[in-house]
Amino acid sequence: MARKQAVRYPVAEPDISAAEIRAVSDAVRSGWVSSKGRYITQFEEGLAKYVGTSHGVSTSNGTTALHLAVKALGIGKGDRVIVPNLTFASPANAVIYEGAEPVLCDVEGEYWNLDDQKLEELIDRSTKAIIAVHLYGNPCRMDRILKIAREHSLFVIEDVAEALGSEFRNRRVGSFGDISCFSFYGNKVITTGEGGMCLTNNSSYAERMRVLRDHGMNPQKRYWHDEVGYNYRMTNMQAALGVAQLRRLDGFIRKKRNIASWYSKGLRHPRIRMVQHEPDWGKSIYWLYSILCDVDSPQDRSKLMERLLKLRVESRPLFYPLDQMPPYRRLKRSADLEVSHAVSASGLSLPSYTELNREDVLDIADAVVVALGT
Ligand SMILES: *Cc1c(COP(=O)(O)O)cnc(C)c1O
Repeated sequence: MARKQAVRYPVAEPDISAAEIRAVSDAVRSGWVSSKGRYITQFEEGLAKYVGTSHGVSTSNGTTALHLAVKALGIGKGDRVIVPNLTFASPANAVIYEGAEPVLCDVEGEYWNLDDQKLEELIDRSTKAIIAVHLYGNPCRMDRILKIAREHSLFVIEDVAEALGSEFRNRRVGSFGDISCFSFYGNKVITTGEGGMCLTNNSSYAERMRVLRDHGMNPQKRYWHDEVGYNYRMTNMQAALGVAQLRRLDGFIRKKRNIASWYSKGLRHPRIRMVQHEPDWGKSIYWLYSILCDVDSPQDRSKLMERLLKLRVESRPLFYPLDQMPPYRRLKRSADLEVSHAVSASGLSLPSYTELNREDVLDIADAVVVALGT
């Protein structure tokens, strides 16, 4: 559905069809507007099946999903959890909510994910878990991360907010960790407006997360609280949207992969150092198609983005490295974080929504080339 836009090509836009509207209307008309109702179970079971796990626990958003995962694994005060230095901040925040300490690991330069070579130097007696974020749809090296985790008895949480449908060696990401977390915010691969989910193969984690998201109430004894919980539930209306979106997911992924291949053909310029690409050991869903450019300074990149905006193309800088922002400045970190700094400083995400066609993408690629100059 096309919305009126100030720019011609926004970075992201949800793809919502009549089927989604029918499903949401059905949920509203049924009267099951809160967090009970058939769409909740359908969405939880559908996502778990799609990714390849046995349990799904829906949540109010991706950050609450991460918080539940951290808490269900018993991580708390005095514990450390390794997170990538280049990520959206919410995995680090979820660790901090529980009084534990994120430890910042540098990323590698090819797919911008956790550098497994730099993981081990960060592990000490307080380390309890690794949060592997599959950034911009690129899958992490799950074999190496799991091997290190196993050797040091660490939990692995996967943050799959940007990578629903991506694969590591023909297996979907989100099926590797102890718990994996998803987000269905409006700019994600599928959306429920706000929303999230935890997937796991462990029934006690699933049970614990269900209790925690429902005020900590005893499931056998209503209004009896064994502990302080939260209201992190998803509504049936959101789940209805999710069920209808999930049916279209394979089509979205096909489209996003086409968009990536069109971009990679159109984006030729001496200042483009790297375009997002996938490894031969995995498959990316290219959540936000991103490129690295030669820029001299943050101002230089801002100018580039302004020139693009004049050509009516919205763009977005890559995430800022966590270590540069006030809440995370004093955290333990890799001996050097230079790759995350370099990738972040030179990166730009381009319009990636599924309603773009080939001409649009080539048009945007032309605009990027023009904006980069001669
Ligand atoms: C979007 C996102 C989240 C959080 O999702 P919300 O639903 O906005 O809370 C977490 N991690 C990553 C990597 C994300 O991109």
